[in-house]
Amino acid sequence: MQQPPDDITALRLNARFGNAPAMAALAVALDRYEGRIALVSSFGAEAAVLLHMLSRIDPGVPVLMLDTLLLFPETLEYQQRLTAQFGLRDVRRITPDETDDPERSLHRRDSAACCALRKVAPLEAALRGFEAVITGRKRFQTGARARMERFELDARRLKVNPLADWTPHQISAYFDAHDLPRHPLVARGYPSIGCAPCTSRVQAGEDQRAGRWRGEDRQECGIHFGKDGRIERKAG
Ligand code: SF4
Repeated sequence: MQQPPDDITALRLNARFGNAPAMAALAVALDRYEGRIALVSSFGAEAAVLLHMLSRIDPGVPVLMLDTLLLFPETLEYQQRLTAQFGLRDVRRITPDETDDPERSLHRRDSAACCALRKVAPLEAALRGFEAVITGRKRFQTGARARMERFELDARRLKVNPLADWTPHQISAYFDAHDLPRHPLVARGYPSIGCAPCTSRVQAGEDQRAGRWRGEDRQECGIHFGKDGRIERKAG
């Protein structure tokens, strides 16, 4: 029987594959956790890179798409386009229980509570049974991610961040090299794309994520967890 991941697992993987090419790190994780690993994707501005890599190794790996029911319609169309183009065979659309926010207005009163209801709770439920999860997070995205390892352990599972050390230039070069389609909102001034009510256009010279929760002191949605399992509101 396979042992669940622990701190030693993450340490060893970082020592061996922390600086390996992203595809190699991804392949190792997929091999070790076959049947127990899923990729979480927003199908946002940079998502195509990791999804394309996954499709080249194993297009049957589960891809969890968190649909808060407040996404841009362009994101849903982009998800369908990438799924078809890459031949992804197991994309699962995860939706929230809206009982406590039937009018979809909670984000105006308490965005943290809204993220907890529409993102954190459904993703936690969807990840039950998976021992490892692949994310597309990069160190350059926020200050809290600057020291992120390629392999991390939270209280429950191994997080695999194959693109942790990638730069915006590398992301862009990968799009060009593989002729990947861009999210349609990127050309309209949205370099980082989340829910429609909480994403605004970014002006020239602004940080890439300046349009997320504009006017609030937060950079993250809270779907990542600390080592003790608590939700890190500003990390992940
Ligand atoms: S990003 Fe905004 S709309 Fe989406 S779940 Fe969080 S608070 Fe709600």
